[in-house]
Amino acid sequence: MNSPVFRWAIVLFVAITLPGRAWDPCGHEIVATIAFDHLNPKARAEALSLASQVVGPEKAYDPVTIACWMDDLRGHYPNLPYRGLFFPWHYIDFGLDPGDPQPVVEPGQDNETSGNVITALKRIEVVLRGGTDPYVKTKAMAYAMASHLVGDIHQPLHAATYYHQDANGRWTNDLGGNRVVVVNGPAIEPTYNLHYFWDAAWRVSFDEASGRVAVDLRYENWKHHDAEVVRALAEEMDAALKPDAQTKLNPDFEAWAQESNKLAREVAYARLTFTDNHKSARISAEYVALAQPLARQRLVLAGYRLAALLNATLGADAPGPVPPSFPAGPVNTIMPDTSVVTSPSK
Ligand SMILES: [Zn+2]
Repeated sequence: MNSPVFRWAIVLFVAITLPGRAWDPCGHEIVATIAFDHLNPKARAEALSLASQVVGPEKAYDPVTIACWMDDLRGHYPNLPYRGLFFPWHYIDFGLDPGDPQPVVEPGQDNETSGNVITALKRIEVVLRGGTDPYVKTKAMAYAMASHLVGDIHQPLHAATYYHQDANGRWTNDLGGNRVVVVNGPAIEPTYNLHYFWDAAWRVSFDEASGRVAVDLRYENWKHHDAEVVRALAEEMDAALKPDAQTKLNPDFEAWAQESNKLAREVAYARLTFTDNHKSARISAEYVALAQPLARQRLVLAGYRLAALLNATLGADAPGPVPPSFPAGPVNTIMPDTSVVTSPSK
């Protein structure tokens, strides 16, 4: 079973079954930068210390780059601890209609390869408050996960998917738009889909000449990442899109996911014309004009809410009682083959 053909079959299987499920790296770093700027001194000191304790693939993490650790686990780093785990923790498959299947939101039936972003954040909050968890082993790990997942839960298509029943009555879904081909995506992106569009929606525009979506490529290649550029973007967005006084910032993960789901229902899916039985769609200039500012607003709000979560836990003057641990879910019978090179996420 270890023939080259079999190994390539696994590579293809993983490439097909692990679609992009994250804001792009620059988007995650914008969230983390905004959050760091709104931490109290105690939380800020803790964040600096915890980020440096997480093992990275190349250089040490800081409170901005730590936001990409969960995506680094899906990259080409064979020796990275926890590599290949936690993939379903990046999203939750709430449907678009009340009759759709309902995901479980209380931890207990989840583990390192199942669950969702709500069960994940509930486990993470326990550890940030000084408790323990069977999967989130350390406070540094909880901090790294929070830095990424508070961003993800604000991406509308991380909390929504289009369910439908197949010919045998079995439920299936479009993987948060990953199965919806965008027919007029950027020419350089041959496999562009609706989820990818939203992952980078904060930097899209519409090219009238070609009729295609355009993505600002200055922030595309992570190897060319520049901390100064990220900071400038974060400061610009924070100044322009600060949440108003009525916006609730306190940790309420289910409410955050429902808010994203509502945006998916009312904007991301509702304002799009689907073709080919919901398998493809064409994006209009009007859609881009709605999506780009909305995505930026979600990044800023995620930054403020991440800061609120970290201030209430790492930065608390008088930490409350240690919360009880959530139980472990079923033992994994199928662990990911971490010898396989997976495609990096968007
Ligand atoms: Zn993610």
